[in-house]
Parts: sequence; structure tokens; C-alpha cells
Amino acid sequence: MKKSNELVLLFSLIFIALLLISSDLLTINTEINSENVDTTYLDMASVSRSINEDTNIISDQLNYYKENYNVNINVYDIAENLNISYQLETIKNSNVIISSLNQLGTYFSTLGSDLFNNFYKYNMQGLEIYLVSEIKNKDKADSNNADIVGLFFKKSNKYMIIIKVNSNENIVNIAFHETMHAIEEYLKMHNEFFVEWDSLNPKDFSYSQTFYTNQIFSDTIDGNKYYSEVYFIDNYARSSAMEDRARIFEYLCLGINLYKYPNLAAKATYLQQTLQKYI
Ligand SMILES: [Zn+2]
Repeated sequence: MKKSNELVLLFSLIFIALLLISSDLLTINTEINSENVDTTYLDMASVSRSINEDTNIISDQLNYYKENYNVNINVYDIAENLNISYQLETIKNSNVIISSLNQLGTYFSTLGSDLFNNFYKYNMQGLEIYLVSEIKNKDKADSNNADIVGLFFKKSNKYMIIIKVNSNENIVNIAFHETMHAIEEYLKMHNEFFVEWDSLNPKDFSYSQTFYTNQIFSDTIDGNKYYSEVYFIDNYARSSAMEDRARIFEYLCLGINLYKYPNLAAKATYLQQTLQKYI
């Protein structure tokens, strides 16, 4: 049994290695043979064919999500359209785009099309997702050295989510998290502001408004061994009520059980019941 697993692994590695080698060779060939008209012609043809194939796969994926979930995903020419205070970079590698779009399948199937159709209510024009390879704050005064992996904002009557695809964070987690921020905006239009939320926090607690990266707090999952003393998933959840809810939503969508932590369970229940009223 073990042996056969090892063989499968070995063959997979060889296959990946061959793939990597062959894709490298392809580029080298087009450069080396540029004086040989015939070969260059053949190589250029195969290169452009594979680029076309990738473009077709990507546009099929984009159409699929648009048709089934009414969500626009943007992967090309992002920076110019958006005029925001963040610098964004387009993903250069089409394989990264294809695999990121594939991964988002879980995100869409978990949330379902009804949720996304709500984003067209109240004169809004739906959810728009941007996949990028880099998000940098143009304002360097931001002292926080944490990586920015996702953004949410409302612009031109659209809910907009930006996801960095090559960070340490899973893009599906980021997508769930940012979607909760969008839902929160949608709920505001129903005059829903989670007024009971603060009563679920420890007495005298107030959100830090800052993300502490070098400190462990005793009311977080990692900071306390007693389930009953945990009120927040992590430090980020302690920074604002919105981030607190987005973290909990993220965990619920991923199917992570929070119910052994009674205080987090109370928040999760309140969140779920509120969402059920409007979605
Ligand atoms: Zn957030």
C-alpha cells in the first residue's frame, strides 16, 4: 500500500518536472531559433496556440461564474479602471489565473446564487471580484507591516472585492471574508447594524482598531486553553466588530466548528440568524 503511494508520488513528481522542463524549453526554443525561419514559425504557432487555449479556458470560467452566480470576475487590466488608494498588479501567468478561478468554485457553491443576486437589490449592480498578484498601499504611512491579501469597497453602485492570489492565505478564505464585508453593506440598507453584538463581548471590551501582529491575547483561540474564555477567533477579529464578524463568517463557510467555544458560538448564532432574515 505504502509502496504504491510512493510510486504515485514519484510519477507525479516526474510528470511535474517534465511539464516544467517542457514549458521552459518552449520559451528557450523561440529565442534560440529566431534566425531559422522554419523552426521559428512552428514554435511561434505552438506558443500562440497555447496562449489562445488559456484565454479560452479563462473566458469559459469567467462566463460560467457570471451565468451561474451573476458575479463579474476581472483578471485583466485592473489597475487603470479602479482609481483607489491601493496599487494593484495584474497576474502575469495564465496558469495562476486558471487555477485561482478553479479554486473559487468552492466559494461560489458554498454561498449559492441567491446570495449574489441580493447584491442587485437597492439599485446596486452586483458583486465584482478582482484577482490580482499584488496589493500595495500607496500611502506608506501605514505602519502595519501585515500583508494585504484582500480588500472590499463599494464603488459606482457595485460591491467590489479584490483578492491577492499568491499570498500565504487561501483565496477561498479571503473571498469568504471580503464577502462578509459586502453582506454587511447590504444589511445596512435593511437598517441592520447588529446592535446586540457588543453585548456578546467581554465586559468593558472595546475593539482595538489596530491589528496587533506580535502579541497573543488571552481571549483568542490561540491565546487560551479554556474554551469558555475565548471570545475572538484571532487578533484580527479584535480590531473591529466588522472584522470580528468577517472572521466568524469565514470560519462558518469553511465548516470549522466554533460551537465548543460558547462565546464564539453565541456570536455565530446571532450572525447566522441575522443573515437568514435578509438573505
Ligand atoms: Zn476584513
